[in-house]
Amino acid sequence: AAAIEAVNLTKQYDNGRGCRDVSIRVGKGEAFGFLGPNGAGKSTFVKMLVGLVTPTSGHARLLGEPIGTLAAKRHIGYLPELYRYQEWLSGEEVVRLHAKLCGIQRKVADERVPRLLEEVGLGLRGRDRVKNYSKGMQQRLGLACALVNDPAIVFLDEPSSALDPIGRREVRTILARLKAQGKTIFLNSHLLEDVEALCDRIALLNNGVILRHGSVSEVIHTR
Ligand code: ADP
Ligand code: ADP
Repeated sequence: AAAIEAVNLTKQYDNGRGCRDVSIRVGKGEAFGFLGPNGAGKSTFVKMLVGLVTPTSGHARLLGEPIGTLAAKRHIGYLPELYRYQEWLSGEEVVRLHAKLCGIQRKVADERVPRLLEEVGLGLRGRDRVKNYSKGMQQRLGLACALVNDPAIVFLDEPSSALDPIGRREVRTILARLKAQGKTIFLNSHLLEDVEALCDRIALLNNGVILRHGSVSEVIHTR
């Protein structure tokens, strides 16, 4: 089965906005990018795939499992656009809490949480309270949380948009490493540099519909 397969996936909000007839197929281990301006429908599409928004029509599967099912959710990690933390907790406590919510056994978490903090460059800051983290550190903490169930597919909604250039580069480096580990990545971004650096294929989304899709060069350099 493909990692992600969506057929005519549609969400129409009451105000008529949303996204319409989006069909994509992403192979295992591929990095796929959704490029489009704010309001294009990128978040809506990802929220349907991760089971947070119910489609109006169409269907989709993740590694063969219908979206919204527990079986599909087991395969996924998700970094929402604006992730809110319990900022009185330490970074390590936040990731541990996530592990617990994912039903991960304590013994597994004992090994995995420090390793993930290390992987996102927070190994030395795990004991600090999140309220003392920079935006970039908070995004990297969000990445650690998204990876806590060792997902095959990772959905990232504008992971570096709110970051300064150094923060963006740090996130980009981590995403490249995830891809090298064989994870399937679905990246929403309005930044060409982000999708260009990472993605094998992209789709250009505007006003809720795909305008073009293909390799980065096919999509960006054709007029
Ligand atoms: P993007 O992630 O590309 O910025 P979104 O998926 O967040 O786009 O939004 C797509 C469109 O749907 C926008 O016009 C947005 O205002 C609208 N929208 C998003 N969520 C809702 C909602 N819950 N109710 C009504 N409209 C919404
Ligand atoms: P995101 O990009 O993560 O979806 P947004 O800033 O687009 O976040 O939206 C924040 C919240 O407001 C979300 O729950 C979204 O569904 C909702 N929302 C966004 N646009 C609209 C809208 N035009 N009408 C109603 N709700 C909206």
